[in-house]
Amino acid sequence: MSDLHRVHNFNAGPGALPLEVLQQAQAELLDFKGTGMSVMEMSHRSKEFESVIKTAEADLRDLLGISNDYKIMFLQGGATLQFAMLPMNLRPAGASADYVVTGTWSKTAVKEAKKLGATRVAATTEASNFNCLPETYDFDPKAAYVHYTMNETIHGVEFFNEPVIPEGVPLVCDTSSNFISRPIDVSKYALLYAGAQKNAGPAGVTVVIARDDMLARTPDNLPVMLDYKTLAEKESLHNTPPSFAIYMVGLVFQWAKKMGGLAAIEKVNREKAAIVYDAIDKSGGFYRGHVVPAARSLMNIPFRLPSEELEDTFAKEAKNAGLIGLKGHRSVGGMRASVYNAVTIEGAKALSQFMAEFQKRNG
Ligand SMILES: *Cc1c(COP(=O)(O)O)cnc(C)c1O
Repeated sequence: MSDLHRVHNFNAGPGALPLEVLQQAQAELLDFKGTGMSVMEMSHRSKEFESVIKTAEADLRDLLGISNDYKIMFLQGGATLQFAMLPMNLRPAGASADYVVTGTWSKTAVKEAKKLGATRVAATTEASNFNCLPETYDFDPKAAYVHYTMNETIHGVEFFNEPVIPEGVPLVCDTSSNFISRPIDVSKYALLYAGAQKNAGPAGVTVVIARDDMLARTPDNLPVMLDYKTLAEKESLHNTPPSFAIYMVGLVFQWAKKMGGLAAIEKVNREKAAIVYDAIDKSGGFYRGHVVPAARSLMNIPFRLPSEELEDTFAKEAKNAGLIGLKGHRSVGGMRASVYNAVTIEGAKALSQFMAEFQKRNG
């Protein structure tokens, strides 16, 4: 394997996958467990695929400690479809839903929810270009649910505690970009969803974790592909599911268990993030983080350099040094390092070292 070419991949999504997972998929590609075919080629009704999807579900329950009063769905349409499915299913006609807006993704969720009914913004940090968490909230105690985004992938803001909401109001969360990056208390949530391609697998599958009482809210007239209740009852097999993507997230769940579970993964993620934030903080202002320290994401780290010209040079030279995907999103500008589960400590150290050297040459 000495000729294997792998870069340090800081892409924001689709993002890096663990090498071991890719190698296992490669080894099983032509002949999955003696079937003589790939998971891509087999019936989604076969007993082999049933075992793939059931194992993925069981491993996720195990990793996140999900109790039996929650259903797990493997759906298509990305987190973006959840922005619409959620109000269609959970917000009864005439009711209103509350949204916490902390970045591009929660703002986009509001935009979709508004098309379909009453939507309130209970807090927003837009005035400071989403560089912090809200200090105060104005929740509606009668809201159908409260929606927030646990990690804002573009702005690099992450919640480490759930917002405190009125009792009895269901809490709903977009956890796309910090999914399985650390333990969370699922019992605090009515519903969680995550597009897999940020931290848990390839694009094409979205994991939805929904408490049973939320499924009872689904109205009767929804098209079936938008209907949580039916999709959950059919155990994600109402129609052909994204079978290969489900297989891949299943391998990532197994990998996460092998790494020691989410507490062990969090430890590594904290170490990686600290390496990159230290490189920013010790640069004497050459590198400037977008987010105030208390709200810094462990997954996505946006930062600026003294000029756009230097930022372009940084991206180019980093790429030549095997550090890929560091150009930031245009709404924040500058650079963004995404240090998802599959990015190694070695990768974070390589980035930190490159940052120090680049500053020496250009500071
Ligand atoms: C990427 C992302 C989305 C959109 O995901 P798609 O799968 O492209 O629809 C939504 N929310 C968050 C937090 C994201 O990071």
